[in-house]
Amino acid sequence: MYDVIIIGAGPAGLTAAIYARRAGKSVLVLEKDSFGGQVTFSPKLENYPGFETISGNELAQRMLEQALALGADVDMDTVTGIENGEWKTVIGENARYEARAVIIAAGARHRRLGLPREEAFIGNGLSFCAVCDGAFYQGGHVAVIGGGNTALQEILLLSEICQKVTVVQNLAFLTGEQAMIDRVLARANVEIRYSTLCVGYEGADALTGLCLRNTETGAQTTLAVDGAFLAIGTEPENLPFAALAPLNEAGYIRADESCRTPTPGIFAAGDCRTKAYRQVATAVADGASAALNAVRDLDAPAQ
Ligand SMILES: Cc1cc2nc3c(=O)[nH]c(=O)nc-3n(C[C@H](O)[C@H](O)[C@H](O)COP(=O)(O)OP(=O)(O)OC[C@H]3O[C@@H](n4cnc5c(N)ncnc54)[C@H](O)[C@@H]3O)c2cc1C
Repeated sequence: MYDVIIIGAGPAGLTAAIYARRAGKSVLVLEKDSFGGQVTFSPKLENYPGFETISGNELAQRMLEQALALGADVDMDTVTGIENGEWKTVIGENARYEARAVIIAAGARHRRLGLPREEAFIGNGLSFCAVCDGAFYQGGHVAVIGGGNTALQEILLLSEICQKVTVVQNLAFLTGEQAMIDRVLARANVEIRYSTLCVGYEGADALTGLCLRNTETGAQTTLAVDGAFLAIGTEPENLPFAALAPLNEAGYIRADESCRTPTPGIFAAGDCRTKAYRQVATAVADGASAALNAVRDLDAPAQ
C-alpha cells in the first residue's frame, strides 16, 4: 500500500514524486516505456529554466535521480486500469498495486506517419515542436507535414526563422482557422504542396529528405530538407483511465491547474490533461500541483 502511485515517469510524474516524497508520503512511480517520457526524444532543450542548454536525456536522468534519492520507488509496468474502492487499485500488466491517491501523468504521444525508420529520425532531423527545435534550422529549409491549426502555428513560427518552409498537406486545402490560413498564404517563403503525402524518409543517420507522392497525379518526388516537423496531432493514451477520469473529445483528461479529476483521490498532471501548452515547464508545474493537492487531501481530517 502506497500513499501515492504515479502513472508515468515523464517530467510531470517525476516532479510529482519529488514533491510527494518531500511531504513524507510513500510513492511508487510506474513507467511502461522509458524513464523521462517524451523529453528523452529531444537532443537539446533550450527553454527549460536553469539550463541554457541541456539534452532531454540528461534532464530526465537528473529528475529520475532526484526522485530516487528522495526515496521514491520506481518500477516498470504498463498500467491498464484503475479501480476505485476503499483504496485505489492500480492494475498493471505485471501486478496490482494499492494506493490512497493516484496521479495520472501518462503524457501524450505525437502522431506518427508510421513510415520505416521514423523512430530513428525523431530528434535527428524529424521533430514535433517548432518552439522547441525551430532554432536548430535557422536559415535552412524545413518541411511541415500537416495542414490543420497546429501545423499552421508551426509554419508561421518556422517561416520567421527559416529561409524556406515547404508544407506537405494530404488534402487539396488547409484545414485550420481562416485567419491563420490567410497569414500563412501571405508568407513569401512558404510553399504548399497540396494533395501530397509523405511516403518515406531519406538520410543515413539524420533526415535529409522526404519522399512525396501527389495523390492526384501519382507523381513521386524527393524533397531535400534540413529538417521536418510532423504536425498531424497528438494522441493521448488515456483510455485505461477513462472510467474514473473523464476525457474530452480529443482524449485528454478533463482537469484544470488543480489537476483534480471528478473522482476524489485521482489527479491528472502534465500533457495528459486538458491544457493550452504542452511543455516540460508546464508538465513540471502540474506535477507539483497534483502532488501538493494529493498530499493536502491525504492529510485532511476525515469528515
Ligand atoms: C522531440 C520532442 C522534443 C521536445 N522538445 C521540448 C523542448 O525543447 N522544450 C519543452 O519544454 N518541451 C519539449 N517537448 C515536449 C515535452 O517533452 C513534453 O511536454 C513533456 O515531456 C510532457 O511531460 P509529461 O510528464 O506530461 O508526459 P510525457 O513526457 O509524455 O511522459 C509520460 C510518461 O508516461 C508513460 N506512460 C504512458 N501511459 C502509461 C501507462 N499506461 N502505464 C505506465 N506508464 C505510462 C509514458 O511512457 C511516458 O514515459 C518535446 C517533445 C518531443 C517529443
